[in-house]
Amino acid sequence: MGGKYDILIVGGGPAGISAALTAVNRGKKTAVIANPPETSKLSLAELVTNYPGISGTGAELMQKMRSQLIESGAEIINGKALSVMSLGKTIGVAVGNDFYEGTAVIIATGISRRPLCEGETKFLGRGVSYCATCDGMLYKGKNVAVLGEGEEAEHDIEFLKEIGCNVTAFSGKGKIEITGEMKADTLVVNGQTVKTDCIFILKDTLSSETLVNGIECDRSTIKTDKSGKTNISGVFAAGDCTGAPYQLAKAVGEGNIAALTACEYISNLN
Ligand SMILES: Cc1cc2nc3c(=O)[nH]c(=O)nc-3n(C[C@H](O)[C@H](O)[C@H](O)COP(=O)(O)OP(=O)(O)OC[C@H]3O[C@@H](n4cnc5c(N)ncnc54)[C@H](O)[C@@H]3O)c2cc1C
Repeated sequence: MGGKYDILIVGGGPAGISAALTAVNRGKKTAVIANPPETSKLSLAELVTNYPGISGTGAELMQKMRSQLIESGAEIINGKALSVMSLGKTIGVAVGNDFYEGTAVIIATGISRRPLCEGETKFLGRGVSYCATCDGMLYKGKNVAVLGEGEEAEHDIEFLKEIGCNVTAFSGKGKIEITGEMKADTLVVNGQTVKTDCIFILKDTLSSETLVNGIECDRSTIKTDKSGKTNISGVFAAGDCTGAPYQLAKAVGEGNIAALTACEYISNLN
């Protein structure tokens, strides 16, 4: 699977949905790569009263926005983007084993998570993986550790067992360290040492620096100008991932602006 789009949006929260609606209105072939809607911060809000024209629980507003996205005609690619990289004239996005290309990409991934533990970034791709279904087969019959909880983690643990991995699972909470020489081979969780061939770290959100190759950040928030441009040509950003204030109206506004800027960028290329 995979495909080519004018505008690819990573993140299906308010910023990503707003960007998608604007991009579709401008006639752009648009897709949103989206984790489940309940992973949006908006879904956690008990009652939203500061958004003009509508009020309700965050989950209700998220549901309405999601329905509007579905009706808009934008394609929804269910899954987690694992990496975003400039390919020169286009931007590539890996989602599991699939690869997508956009003339422009808008990052709308919400608050950026710092790496979960020491050694995570250092050993990524060398005994540390964010995707069990992509890399699991490489560790068939071997010892693997999983850090993470929730439905996705349970699903991936089951998958790893099915393909013959010896799985040790941890919630990912507490003090964790990954060590090794050329490759990660040891996990220390709250003082317990586990020898392992691979550590699968399963979380909804990667840090912006990990997700987007070469992106300029300021303490984990993506640096943009007022039009949503980042330091990478063709990559734009909107919403909580660009920093405070962490508010719905700001996320929606920035999504709209980033999409308009992306449309202008595409017109200038042609
Ligand atoms: C408890 C709580 C209450 C709040 N109450 C209010 C309020 O009353 N008023 C207000 O204005 N604001 C409120 N907020 C803030 C508001 O919810 C956020 O500012 C808003 O949701 C930001 O939208 P966003 O699209 O930038 O990020 P998010 O809503 O976090 O959406 C980002 C989406 O991108 C997905 N994603 C991340 N990484 C990837 C990836 N690699 N691949 C695919 N998808 C990915 C995430 O899973 C998520 O679904 C509240 C927040 C919380 C936590």
